[in-house]
Amino acid sequence: MAKLTFYGGVKEIGGNKILLEDKGVRLFLDFGLSFCAMRKYFAGYLTPRNVNGIGDYLEFDILPRMEGLYKADRLKSCGIKQCETRVDGVLISHPHIDHIGCLSSLDENIPVYCGEISKLIIDAVEDATAGDNFGSHIYKTFHTGDVLKIGSLKIEPIHVDHSIPGAYGYIIHTSEGPVVYTGDLRMHGTRSDMTEDFIKAAKKAKPRILITEGTRVMPQDNRKNFTEKGVRDEIDRIISGTDKIVLATFYGRDLDRFRNFYEAAKAHKRKFVISMRLAYLLYKVREDKKFPIPDVMNDDVILVYKRRKKSGEYTEKDYQKWERIFLDKAVDYKYVSKNQPELIFNLDLFNFQELIDVRPEQGSPYIHSMSEPFSEEDINDELMHTWLDHFKLELHQVHASGHCAGEEIEDLVRRINPERLIPIHTEYPEMLKGIVKDTLIVEKNKEYVI
Ligand SMILES: [Zn+2]
Repeated sequence: MAKLTFYGGVKEIGGNKILLEDKGVRLFLDFGLSFCAMRKYFAGYLTPRNVNGIGDYLEFDILPRMEGLYKADRLKSCGIKQCETRVDGVLISHPHIDHIGCLSSLDENIPVYCGEISKLIIDAVEDATAGDNFGSHIYKTFHTGDVLKIGSLKIEPIHVDHSIPGAYGYIIHTSEGPVVYTGDLRMHGTRSDMTEDFIKAAKKAKPRILITEGTRVMPQDNRKNFTEKGVRDEIDRIISGTDKIVLATFYGRDLDRFRNFYEAAKAHKRKFVISMRLAYLLYKVREDKKFPIPDVMNDDVILVYKRRKKSGEYTEKDYQKWERIFLDKAVDYKYVSKNQPELIFNLDLFNFQELIDVRPEQGSPYIHSMSEPFSEEDINDELMHTWLDHFKLELHQVHASGHCAGEEIEDLVRRINPERLIPIHTEYPEMLKGIVKDTLIVEKNKEYVI
């Protein structure tokens, strides 16, 4: 008997942790962190205690209470018996934290299956961030076209377009028929052909079950949303209308967005000054020869920004090992300040202090190229406005979501036409009822027979 249990992603966006059991094989689909649960119980300095292992997470049902899943040293004083590994693998859809954020607690003997690029992104984050983010694991990587065998399960990974490279959907052949898992996907990106490949293959498989994301399935989505192409057009329009520096904030792992700003800089004969963190990610993902990305070490459009650190003298010892590779070619605030009209300057919200050094000319455009905050209580939003007002910068909200619109998800379900639909990764799963007669709205931690 094949079974599914959902330990996250239930009536919430993200935190996916889905256990698939079939003929003695136990496989997790994603092992993400639930932002929703974290926000409910923790904030600021109120964080889960490391000393209590996974205990603080178990208290609030953020991790599943299960034997044979966790690292021994994470099990102290939480009432779960330490025993041999009882899970055969974790299959990652893409490297966003709400899909991989709990990997660090896992038993290191459990293999992690993910796309080649996902592994490189994980490595880049691990190198460039203090502490243990994802733990050490046996990684088994693949590209589209490969077929994975985990016990009796045959799995076809198929690329999809999302706001991070290396995103996959899966067709998992179980003893009760194919189970299709979308991961996160979109139709309006630069690689909608990849999502299309996935939908076609999923339809052809005649799935018993379709587990779909539904992030943007909601009663009313009023947020302004561009296509990725529309984002590029808007960036072009903004640059054309100014002779000042253009400032830009976007998610550092969204390489489609990076490409948009990069191409815009090239077209407008500007240089693109990026953070060291982004530079390091570009440097790492080039290890996958199949992934086309500019060579950060030799490209003449990209400049890397070095922040003042410790001595303020830009000496090697002030910087981390991963940062040092860029020091020779990096530019400082004096360069950026002096050459404002020739630059697009990538600046993360948590590096806004650089504005104090750079002193952008009043009225310079600031492009906020990430999602608008969900609620007005979002403190980042208020903070951002205070800074922009202080420096008299002109705000432009220009973003394309990483997710299909609600109607596109409905269309995807209709086209794939599964026997049974399971909507997850949405606050409103019941809104997808009626497209497929057998639609199951799942509850957390409950077992469902396939
Ligand atoms: Zn995602």
